[in-house]
Amino acid sequence: MALERTLSIIKPDATRRNLTGAINAKLEGAGLRIVAQRRVRLTTAQAEAFYAVHRERPFFRDLVTFMVSGPVVAQVLEGENAVARNREVMGATNPANAAPGTIRKEFAESIEANSVHGSDSAENAAIEIAFFFSALDIVG
Ligand code: GDP
Repeated sequence: MALERTLSIIKPDATRRNLTGAINAKLEGAGLRIVAQRRVRLTTAQAEAFYAVHRERPFFRDLVTFMVSGPVVAQVLEGENAVARNREVMGATNPANAAPGTIRKEFAESIEANSVHGSDSAENAAIEIAFFFSALDIVG
């Protein structure tokens, strides 16, 4: 398996509850290395652009409003199979369906306020990493 990078976001529900460190511990415990990290307050236009693939979904407007409701922590995670490994430690989108020990099972408030984002493919990871970081920001 190749060394991979993926984009993670600690969402506003988690930063509000001071869970950045607890979530980072889960990520690191899963063998993922945080090789870039930045706390930002997204604008509405930025959140809309980031979630453009969901533009037609019924929850798009709510999701954008949620994502700009507080600071987020954008991160680049590096490791073997990082995209899949991060999805595994995140857990299912709906915390009610998330496996025990996953970030969403332990910390998520709802299907929307579910504490973390993670890229769903290597192709999207490259696009999403470039949305937040330049090459110089990433220190492997
Ligand atoms: P993910 O890849 O597991 O994050 O899930 P998706 O790509 O399907 O959805 C993106 C994000 O939209 C999720 O992480 C949630 O924050 C939000 N979301 C997904 N499904 C719903 C829903 O049914 N209702 C609401 N309000 N938000 C949702």
